[in-house]
Amino acid sequence: MLLLYLIKIWVGAMKRLYNALNLKKLLVLKELGIDYVEPIKELKGDVLELPNNIEELKKIVLNCHLCELSKSRTNVVFGEGNTNAKLMFVGEAPGANEDLQGRPFVGRAGELLTKMIENVLYIKRSSVYIANIVKCRPPNNRTPTLSEALTCRPYLLKQIEIIKPKIIVALGSTAYRYLTNDNTPITKVRGHIIDINGYKLIPTYHPSYLLRNPSAKKEAYIDMLKVKELL
Ligand code: URA
Repeated sequence: MLLLYLIKIWVGAMKRLYNALNLKKLLVLKELGIDYVEPIKELKGDVLELPNNIEELKKIVLNCHLCELSKSRTNVVFGEGNTNAKLMFVGEAPGANEDLQGRPFVGRAGELLTKMIENVLYIKRSSVYIANIVKCRPPNNRTPTLSEALTCRPYLLKQIEIIKPKIIVALGSTAYRYLTNDNTPITKVRGHIIDINGYKLIPTYHPSYLLRNPSAKKEAYIDMLKVKELL
């Protein structure tokens, strides 16, 4: 028993040391003027040890400084909702309102997303889980870079692993692209049901796009009906 306990402590200490050495390498490379892309590659995926508990994960993400977006953010937007949800929505990145409040989809696009959930699926917004590809607002709401998306990826993957949704709705082309590494335009893939890592991915238009192009709401409505059928 004692031996097992000591081995557990030793393994934990080794993992922490490994992560610390990786982080140190990252900082040295940064001081040399090398961008984040290469060192982050080593930190993502299995190499970066992340907790399997959503609150523990949240603590880590709220303290993340691994990319440039951390410098300009007001708040980290970790994600929110039912951690046992069957349905998860993944957007692109926090906007100005989300950055101020530290919550996803709370601006005009968020109002529309809430309507899509509550008036089409007939479920409460609080019954689903909502997150983004990147957890910090890109300046001027620009699209997150590949490097930023890859840096943040382990956090989203861990959220998905913990929540284990049956269905993930990718909101817009950026969310779809970074979830699948597929560059097919959203107009072509929207409404498709894609089996991926044990869940069904359904891409649809981003609510911000729908606000600018109300005629596309019909198609988004059809996509939501598909989601409803699968739930
Ligand atoms: N747009 C997004 O993609 N995510 C948000 O949280 C808000 C707006």
